[in-house]
Amino acid sequence: MAAKGVVVVNEDWCKGCNICAAVCPTKVLELDKVKAVMKVAHPEKCIGCKQCEMICPDFCIYVFTPEEYEELVSV
Ligand code: SF4
Ligand code: SF4
Repeated sequence: MAAKGVVVVNEDWCKGCNICAAVCPTKVLELDKVKAVMKVAHPEKCIGCKQCEMICPDFCIYVFTPEEYEELVSV
């Protein structure tokens, strides 16, 4: 099944607190223990619910629809 959301993490702001991974219902996110930042380990599983984006205390994870993302990268 195609992903319903495209997740982007701003690694410069992410402090690796793991809150976003804890709320993700489909386990898209995993902590990169070497870099201590969140990584999008299973992008194909994203259902676009935006729970990760809403809970991040540092505003550094963004969820786009595939259409929105296409538009962003095409400019
Ligand atoms: S939008 Fe939902 S499914 Fe996608 S990574 Fe965030 S919490 Fe997980
Ligand atoms: S909640 Fe935000 S700061 Fe914490 S790991 Fe996720 S993206 Fe990084």
